[in-house]
Amino acid sequence: MTGRPTPETTASAALFERALAVTPGGVNSPVRAFNAVGGTPRFIRSAAGAWLTDVDGNEYVDLICSWGPMLLGHAHPEVQARVAEAVARGTSYGTPTEPEVQLAEEIVGRTPVERVRFVSSGTEATMSAIRLARGFTGRDVIVKFAGCYHGHVDSLLASAGSGLATFALPGTPGVPVSSTELTLVLPYNDRAAVEKVFAEYPDRIACLITEAAPGNMGVVPPEPGFNAFLAETCSRYGALFVSDEVMTGFRASKLGQWGLDGAVEGWRPDLMTFGKVMGGGFPAAAFGGRADVMSHLAPEGPVYQAGTLSGNPIATTAGLATLRLATDEVYDHIGAAADTIKAAASDALSKAGVAHVVQSTGTMFSVFFAEGTVRDFTDASRTDSTAYAAFFHAMLDAGVYLPPSAYEAWFLSAAHDDRAVQTVLDALPDAARAAAAA
Ligand code: PMP
Repeated sequence: MTGRPTPETTASAALFERALAVTPGGVNSPVRAFNAVGGTPRFIRSAAGAWLTDVDGNEYVDLICSWGPMLLGHAHPEVQARVAEAVARGTSYGTPTEPEVQLAEEIVGRTPVERVRFVSSGTEATMSAIRLARGFTGRDVIVKFAGCYHGHVDSLLASAGSGLATFALPGTPGVPVSSTELTLVLPYNDRAAVEKVFAEYPDRIACLITEAAPGNMGVVPPEPGFNAFLAETCSRYGALFVSDEVMTGFRASKLGQWGLDGAVEGWRPDLMTFGKVMGGGFPAAAFGGRADVMSHLAPEGPVYQAGTLSGNPIATTAGLATLRLATDEVYDHIGAAADTIKAAASDALSKAGVAHVVQSTGTMFSVFFAEGTVRDFTDASRTDSTAYAAFFHAMLDAGVYLPPSAYEAWFLSAAHDDRAVQTVLDALPDAARAAAAA
């Protein structure tokens, strides 16, 4: 033990009490709750750079970064200034605006998509991409991988039935069987399973959707050539390849996961989805892709899709400012900070005798409390959640806010400077020992 005082959390606890009385579970997105690790979530009052301040006045190095968006750190002065100017001009008009054109140009310039449509969440982006894929191909079946999260779209909240190539079961009450009976769920990184379903349903698969590199079961990188294989297989069967870069886009690298494989290997997805970083901390997301596919969207084509706040001027202004500031130096900095933290975490856990594996793709990484390489959801499920819970709370008490779940990436930003990184390094040995004792 360090003798470090446990942080005062009365104000968070009081707010959580009130929240529980008016909001299910006291939170507006389940992963913010501490159900997986126990305890009371900290209510954050403000954030600057790499640091969060809670309502009791405790400060934490933020390793969540709003689950990805805050690539530049919190309250970046230039983003704040652009947003303040935009707010002064009014917050939503329901008409076309210049910032949405500029942001679309920025995304088209940086990714393989030719046309882009803005929405307000990653969920909407994947939902719309799937509708478009079905509308474009005139087919109904979709293929996804177990452990890949694409938002809370009914047809994508599906879990694998028994055996491969069977249609999926609803992943949650409230999703009717009819919503998932056209979804096939396969093990990730499994080429044979992909070959098999395409051979079995050669004329029925509208699209295969995958996280470009899964980050929602912890980081599970695609094995070399896997995404290229998916793109090629889809094309061979006349299905669309939908690469979900909501998490990895403008985060894993300047060009997202595609910058690490497609750009190098010379292939492109038919459709892509984006969110998080491109919204600069505001509700903005997008789907885009081949011009001939995107032209099927209303009002150009027959596939309907719309949104009152889509392309909102504040959100697109924040996203544009963020992407323009996301230079090579930003990614180099985040990559170097990630390398330092990965090495120190691994070292501390090894010294404490805790089974673990660190996995990454570009600047994104996660630490699995499990033995051996994690290449799919079955492997990820071997994570020792009890050890992680003890580790998480020790880190939190030492001023480091990790994701309150063992199955998440740890996010860094350009603002994670030496002081922030050192705070993480200092906290690791005790936390690793707490994990060992759990
Ligand atoms: N796709 C991926 C890969 C995601 O990581 C997420 C969110 N974590 C989503 C889609 C859904 O995005 P949102 O939460 O904005 O609906």
